[in-house]
Amino acid sequence: YDPLIQDTTRQRAAIERDIEAGLEEDWFEAYFQPIVDLSSDRVVGYEALLRLEHPTKGTLPPGNIIKVAEETGAITRIGNRILEKALANLVSISKATKDDEAYIAINFSPLQFDQTLPIRLAALSSRYGIAPQRLVIEITEATLLHDNPQIRTILDEFNRFGCRVALDDFGTGYSSLSYLNRFPVDIVKIDQSFIRSLSVEEPELQHKSRMLVEGITAISHKMECSVVAEGVETEEQRDILRQFGVDRGQGYLFARPQPVSQLIKTMTEKQNRRRNSVA
Ligand code: C2E
Ligand code: CA
Ligand code: CA
Repeated sequence: YDPLIQDTTRQRAAIERDIEAGLEEDWFEAYFQPIVDLSSDRVVGYEALLRLEHPTKGTLPPGNIIKVAEETGAITRIGNRILEKALANLVSISKATKDDEAYIAINFSPLQFDQTLPIRLAALSSRYGIAPQRLVIEITEATLLHDNPQIRTILDEFNRFGCRVALDDFGTGYSSLSYLNRFPVDIVKIDQSFIRSLSVEEPELQHKSRMLVEGITAISHKMECSVVAEGVETEEQRDILRQFGVDRGQGYLFARPQPVSQLIKTMTEKQNRRRNSVA
């Protein structure tokens, strides 16, 4: 008898129940976090981030849900749900902000990469009237790890179809650079840990992380990838990133992940204020 094991078993069972109920009762939501062009400060895209809006527990973050769902196989159903929500949300926010160019970046687990994914994405994007150029598939090195030829084929199909592929959490894995070489990647997302250490007190860490971010940006650009910095929280970080030529930023400095209705409200209010001050 181990109370600790019993505890985690119980927690896991609760998450499994929340997942099933969430799918049944439609509690899954795709929150949006804006992605901002660093040279113009304009919102050029959004990342869809899973939340489970539980009627009594409140809004649950994705971490544990995804871990459990990957083990039970529920990730496919959750992924499809988030995909639909993300596209529907993109349609609403594009209409409200009168912007039919902003892209939507969606996270995919390795287990969601089955051969039917490209064709399903193609069908969905045409059903929602979203140009494939506005879809970004975010993957991590876990998807590329085994150099699986099937994964390669799927990525090539995305590319042929006009979608872009972003490599998430860049710099944290084992051989990030070699993935740029071997796979059709269009966007590099520099991991938050590097952005955080740009402005730490410790001079050596600060210096080294600045060199790394500058270097990753230069290499990515040479490989014809654009660069997004994740976890931008301060103006100082943003200014450094700008100076290094990083293309886009995402983080609490600009906006938190939030329900799309809320984001529409703040974005259209801002647009109206700008319009009034010009008039
Ligand atoms: P990620 O793809 O690296 O997403 C970025 C995470 O950083 C998000 O956490 C976001 O809320 C958080 N973040 C954004 N800006 C800031 C900032 O300025 N400071 C800090 N400290 N954090 C920031 P979140 O929403 O908890 O998501 C965690 C992870 O769960 C994601 O990491 C992604 O790997 C996974 N995930 C989220 N949604 C989905 C989904 O629909 N499908 C799959 N397969 N995975 C998802
Ligand atoms: Ca991501
Ligand atoms: Ca990330």
